[in-house]
Amino acid sequence: MYCRIRDSMNREALFAVEHYRPQSLFPHLITEWSNLYYACSACNGAKRSFVARGRRAKTDFVPHPCEHSMFDHLRYRGATVVAHSETGTFAIDLLDLNAPTSIEFREFFERTLEQARTKLAESRLLVSEVETAISGSSGARLAQLQQGLRRAKANRQKAEDGLRYILGPYEALPA
Ligand SMILES: [Zn+2]
Repeated sequence: MYCRIRDSMNREALFAVEHYRPQSLFPHLITEWSNLYYACSACNGAKRSFVARGRRAKTDFVPHPCEHSMFDHLRYRGATVVAHSETGTFAIDLLDLNAPTSIEFREFFERTLEQARTKLAESRLLVSEVETAISGSSGARLAQLQQGLRRAKANRQKAEDGLRYILGPYEALPA
């Protein structure tokens, strides 16, 4: 929810249910759906039972994905989280959103994603090129190309599976 580290990229990290309004202070919200988020243990641990209160409650809070506009407070510039408000600065600090390991994981993720996208685009292009070549071929050349097409399609499938694995089940593959 906070740091964008994905459970598919960091299987060592524990992920847990984050209670935006902490259980200790809001026991009646422990099973309230709108209070439950998926977060890594580092963020969950950093936030602990924090709740905005007191004199600085108007600025020192953690933006809530449904109640606040995240974009007004926090933005991603590449792998780094940049504050766009006092609240953003506060949240980055409280949750340690730019911890070196977090930046490293986000950079790694972006690189891996880019490579997988390129691989898929290339494998799709190859399939369509071989298909085009097949339409004007015959004889031994045709048989050779058909064999090539099977290989190209198998590679395309592998590339799709690879990207699907990185994106997780809910994001669409590029058209
Ligand atoms: Zn996190």
